[in-house]
Amino acid sequence: MRKKIVAGNWKMNKTLQEGVALATELKEMLAAEKPKASGAYTGEVSAAMVKSTGAEYVILGHSERREYYHETPEILKAKVDLALENGLKVIFCIGESLEQREKGEQEAVCKAELAGSVFHLTPEQWKSITIAYEPIWAIGTGKTATAEQAEEIHAYIRKCVAEVYGAEMADDTTILYGGSCKASNAPELFAKPDIDGGLIGGASLKAPDFKGIIDAWKK
Ligand code: PEP
Repeated sequence: MRKKIVAGNWKMNKTLQEGVALATELKEMLAAEKPKASGAYTGEVSAAMVKSTGAEYVILGHSERREYYHETPEILKAKVDLALENGLKVIFCIGESLEQREKGEQEAVCKAELAGSVFHLTPEQWKSITIAYEPIWAIGTGKTATAEQAEEIHAYIRKCVAEVYGAEMADDTTILYGGSCKASNAPELFAKPDIDGGLIGGASLKAPDFKGIIDAWKK
């Protein structure tokens, strides 16, 4: 694989001491952008902590984290790496906003989110990834994507995966739908060939509601 390099040419500038100071400053700035494996970050939860509870999966890339905690594709990429290094499987969320959907940008948005945070993984690492397509306009709003809308983008996501990892791995990739999924709409969604199940928010908080969705999945 080709190596990517950003080279700095300081020309006839900087003494030895100034050069060391500049390199140190840059290193610290770059390190500050990366999520830390552990350390003095009150309120944060590390991948190792999650793993130590016995958890198998972690959700990354959720639109609430992207919006409220400013998790950029680069930060998410580093979090995905940390999760995998710690033996966790990742449910990676992608999806467009209402504005993006109205402009017909849903495919470009999903592809960019995949490329920015998970398509650097090796085929072996990819086996630990589940994708959740969650249109932001459908999360917690009561507005579900129609089964046809969801299927269309799920099929596109699978095509993007095939371009990077091949048809066989794409076929084996689990792609979940999330966004106001409930017992009443789950059967139609789950009947689609590229919808492999759901990531459920509100309806997972009450056992009877959640069971209704599980029953739909079993059919
Ligand atoms: C979510 O938050 O991931 C989600 C899908 O929520 P809801 O089912 O409530 O729309």
